[in-house]
This record gives sequence, structure tokens and C-alpha cells, in this order.
Amino acid sequence: MGIYDVEDYLSRARAFIAAGDENSLRHACLELRLSLERIIYTKLGQIGEKLPPEVYRKWQPPKALKLLLSFEPKADQDMSLTLTSQAGVPFHIGEYKMFTSHWLNKHYQKLGNFLHAPALADSLKPSSLSSEAVQAIFDEIERVATSSMLMSINAINVFDCEVCEGDMYASQAQIDAHATVECPKCGNKHLVRPIEEGSYEIELSNMDIVTCMKCKSPMALNHLEQNDKKACWNCGQLHHFDWCYGMVEQEA
Ligand SMILES: [Zn+2]
Ligand SMILES: [Zn+2]
Repeated sequence: MGIYDVEDYLSRARAFIAAGDENSLRHACLELRLSLERIIYTKLGQIGEKLPPEVYRKWQPPKALKLLLSFEPKADQDMSLTLTSQAGVPFHIGEYKMFTSHWLNKHYQKLGNFLHAPALADSLKPSSLSSEAVQAIFDEIERVATSSMLMSINAINVFDCEVCEGDMYASQAQIDAHATVECPKCGNKHLVRPIEEGSYEIELSNMDIVTCMKCKSPMALNHLEQNDKKACWNCGQLHHFDWCYGMVEQEA
């Protein structure tokens, strides 16, 4: 069994691709999407108790991978680990393989599109759902699934977002790098930086905080351009920002 335990999904996908008809290919896409989710959630699960699964289980993999990459910027690059013994003999420890975030964004989306029956207006266009297209996605997932190593992520610190009071996460690597950390719930940004051994300080890094005119939630503003629009993270109400700000009429 591989470390990601996706062999069952992949063997069903292989059989569906071999069958080759449109209905079977759609089933293959579902199996492939489930494998992608399993791989990304397994990686995040490695972080341990600090990041409870309910945080990211509802997220789609591209968003989950984005969080993972914020903790560990090289988490989407392949690596091979070899150690050298005292006698100078190199021995191979394992291979770490991962999708690039660009690949994941693109193909997760593509699988989702393949899963839906074409809309009437599109049904005259030739479908891009082909055995070759699905096979190419299968090959990349199978490559990653043969990984023999999970990269361990260093300690994750949890703190409250000053805007929405939701949990925010910063890895030790981010703190050491004085990184800007984004709240996964409301998008507010905080700067984190170490002060002394084992402790760190958090500072709100938004330009300003304004109140949603509909639900009164605090909204963090970063660098908005004149005439920019921004939706409230809580109720979705769109606001425009100019010299003053107000609600934008939306169709129900
Ligand atoms: Zn927040
Ligand atoms: Zn609101």
C-alpha cells in the first residue's frame, strides 16, 4: 500500500479509462478527483492536531494546497533524499513527489468540468473529454502516488484572527521569515515575527478595518484601488470603495 492509499481509486479509474466510452470516462474522472482529495488531505493531516481536519475537509484541494504551501513554500516540489553513511556510502531514503500548485488548480477544475453533462448550448461542440485527456491526469496522479516519503511540516502555531476571531495558522518557517499570514476565513492579513526563543508577535497588517453595512462584520482592507469592490467575508454583500464606501446593489 502506498503512503496515500489511493490504489483502489486508481485501479477503478484504470478500468474505466480502458472501457473508453463517455460514461466510463466520467466515472474515471470521479475516481481521479477522489484520489486528488485523498492525497492533499493526507498531506495536511500530517500537520497533526494543530490543524483539525474540519478546517480543511470542506475545502477544495487547490485551497488546501495553498495553505500547505504557505506553511512550506517548497511543498509542491519533488525531492529525493539520500544520506551518506560514515563510511561514505550513499543510501537512498526516499522520494517525495507532489503536484505543482499550477497543475493541481488546472486539472482539479478540469475533472470537475468533465463530471458534468454538457449544457445544451455546448452539446454541439466537440467534448474535450477523451481517453487521452483522462489518461494524462491519471499518469500524473499515479506518479505522485508512488511517493515513498511524506514531508514533515514544522510546528504550526494557532492564533485568533483579530477581525473575524477565527483560527489562523502560522508555521515556524513563516514566523522565522517574518511572513504575512492570511486568515483562511475572512482574508485578513497579519504579520508574524519572532521576538525571542519560542515566542512570536502578531501584528495586523491591513490598511484599515471597516464595518460591513449589511451584517456589521468587520472587513479588513488591504491595498484597494479607487473604485475597487470587495465582498463581505461573512454575508457576501459587495461594497465599493471610493472616497467613501457604500453597498452595491446585487440581483437576488
Ligand atoms: Zn479572519
Ligand atoms: Zn456582511
